[in-house]
Amino acid sequence: MPANLTLDALGTAFDAGEIDTVLVVFPDMQGRLMGKRFHAGFFLDGGHKETHCCNYLLALDMEMNTVPGYRSAGWDQGYGDYVMRPDLSTLRRLPWLAGTAMVICDLLDHHTQDEVAVSPRAILKRQIARARGMGFDAMMATELEFYLFDNSYESLRGDIKGLVPSSGYNEDYHIFQTTREEDVMRAVRNHLYGAGIPVESTKGEADAGQIEVNHRYSDALDTADNHTIIKQGVKEIAWSRGKSVTFMAKYDTAKAGSAAHVHQSLWTGGTPAFHDPGDGRGMSATMRHFLAGQLAGADQMMVFLAPYVNSYKRFCAGLFAPTRAVWSCDNRTAAFRVCGEGTKAVRVECRIPGADANPYLACAALLAAGLDGIERKLELEPEVRGDLYQARSAREVPKTLREAAERLKASDLYRRAFGGAVVDHYHHAAEWEIAETDRTVTDHDLRRLLERA
Ligand code: ADP
Repeated sequence: MPANLTLDALGTAFDAGEIDTVLVVFPDMQGRLMGKRFHAGFFLDGGHKETHCCNYLLALDMEMNTVPGYRSAGWDQGYGDYVMRPDLSTLRRLPWLAGTAMVICDLLDHHTQDEVAVSPRAILKRQIARARGMGFDAMMATELEFYLFDNSYESLRGDIKGLVPSSGYNEDYHIFQTTREEDVMRAVRNHLYGAGIPVESTKGEADAGQIEVNHRYSDALDTADNHTIIKQGVKEIAWSRGKSVTFMAKYDTAKAGSAAHVHQSLWTGGTPAFHDPGDGRGMSATMRHFLAGQLAGADQMMVFLAPYVNSYKRFCAGLFAPTRAVWSCDNRTAAFRVCGEGTKAVRVECRIPGADANPYLACAALLAAGLDGIERKLELEPEVRGDLYQARSAREVPKTLREAAERLKASDLYRRAFGGAVVDHYHHAAEWEIAETDRTVTDHDLRRLLERA
């Protein structure tokens, strides 16, 4: 399902008074949409060719702090501009915002006009091109989980207390409870569908107030764009109804974390390259090498799948988040779950990414490792079966961002695939997150230590 507007159709909608605003945006390091609101008349006149933004937007943290130490941008270089070039194939209506369309941009260097190497969208595009060069189309889907709260964002400003989940109980697959959430979720499905996002379904998830949105698999860039627009749409639709949502990986110690599982398959000319009807599980040699590459690179890709200190609090036993970086067929305790065994839809579901991951970076990191496995014809290790939370000898998912950052820094795989400058950039982002968390006094510190230390 492509985006649903052409420039001509936008012009017609503008003339008819249907659209007056175009959001001209790009995904930043955190996966947020950043950009400007254009008058549609200006966008049609020439604004669709390019606009500009400060290059600090790919060197910030969540709080918009100007983080020192990045090579791509800094005070020492005077924080110049990037060119934002609209990718007109992403132009679409946003039915939940009156009179509004949106286009996603690529970021270009102001002087060379090359795509900015550290831009998440560029990083993914390069891996997709690499796959194409090897004869493959990378198809992916992300399953995005989040929590819905009855509180408004405005009421949660400052000291965040008294969060009221939209459900009083675990609502996994429940219909009655999800009926109560339809004011938000029906609007989410229909508005996103109207924006050209191929929404498959929404469902209650494995804790009170937790919900999942599924969208149909597509080429990896389209999927990352769709994922980003879904996040934006869910937030805006919930906000418009006085509610709030969170995509943080773990908002409460006692509750299930929120994931963004990534389903992946490679195709050659419309034929699934992962499928071999002659194999017992229907897995081709290509799929085996791909999966072997992801297993070999699992420890090194973590910064891209779990980018914050909080992300690692999700990886605990018994809550459907993986703790062991091994593969297994139709097994929700494995980090790499093979789905659709024996069918043309046979695919790898990576269960490591949190809902807080940047989908461009997560998809790029997974694809890079899989392609590396194919290039090096890595042999797939034996499947591990059963309850992998108990499989004490099986390879673990790194437990902290600190460990993940060290693995990325030393990663030959990602230095080859992404380039040293990109690896150093995202390693620096992880180090900054660690340092910011290390120096912050938490509720946990106070509860434990205030009286008894
Ligand atoms: P589950 O049992 O995990 O709910 P689903 O059948 O709902 O599985 O599929 C999960 C996701 O996998 C969906 O978003 C779907 O579009 C996607 N998917 C299906 N086939 C493929 C494929 N061949 N490659 C990548 N993703 C796929």
